[in-house]
Amino acid sequence: MLYIVSTPIGNLGDITFRAVETLKNVDLIASEDTRHTRILTNHYGIETPLTSYFEHNKIKKADRLVRLLKEGRDIALVTDAGTPGISDPGYRLIRLAKDNDITVTVIPGACALVAALTLSGLASHSFIFEAFLPVKSGARKKKLSGFLKESRVIIFYESPHRICKTLADIVEVLEDPFMVCAREITKKFEEVIEGRASQLLTRFSQGKPKGEMVLLVQPSCIEKKKEARFK
Ligand code: SAM
Repeated sequence: MLYIVSTPIGNLGDITFRAVETLKNVDLIASEDTRHTRILTNHYGIETPLTSYFEHNKIKKADRLVRLLKEGRDIALVTDAGTPGISDPGYRLIRLAKDNDITVTVIPGACALVAALTLSGLASHSFIFEAFLPVKSGARKKKLSGFLKESRVIIFYESPHRICKTLADIVEVLEDPFMVCAREITKKFEEVIEGRASQLLTRFSQGKPKGEMVLLVQPSCIEKKKEARFK
């Protein structure tokens, strides 16, 4: 059986009892970064062997893991943080296991996009998740322009190295929308910053941006409707 196991996105306490039990009881843990996962397994006294399953070995490794599953082994899939399969190589192994009639189950838990959405206080009944925007500005602006008529909250993952460039493109293409940036969620320096995209840009341009972050955009068409209602 393949167990999809969510692990913490920062605070090591954010893991379920069932996740710890599962990680102790399976034959093998397939992990995105075994050094990273070892911090978690050491913390919880989990002695199960670890094997790497990451972006660049995912094709070969998924085949090998599925062979082991077919032989009757139990394997847990974990990634660096949060829920495997959400913007990481996890989905490939999950699909291959399903295609090979292997039972797949999930031990749910932390997920950065859900944590950020709840922290944001934005209308959360309807949203879209776009993971990472393209690295190149031209492609990024093109992708962003596709959201001009979007009425749902848009959620992106972003790296601290690219945050300023991304915010500058959002100011330009999406008409400086209201935004929330949730940084370092569940960690010591957790912070939720909100304001116009241009205000976030000013803030991040003042120093070297650090930490993991999720960006949430309140689409301008929602704001326009609100403005129209108050006129
Ligand atoms: N599978 C993960 C999940 O369930 O959210 C996401 C994996 S994705 C490769 C990693 C991205 O998630 C980071 O670049 C960052 O945008 C976001 N992220 C992960 N942990 C975070 C945290 N503690 N605070 C804010 N964002 C986080």
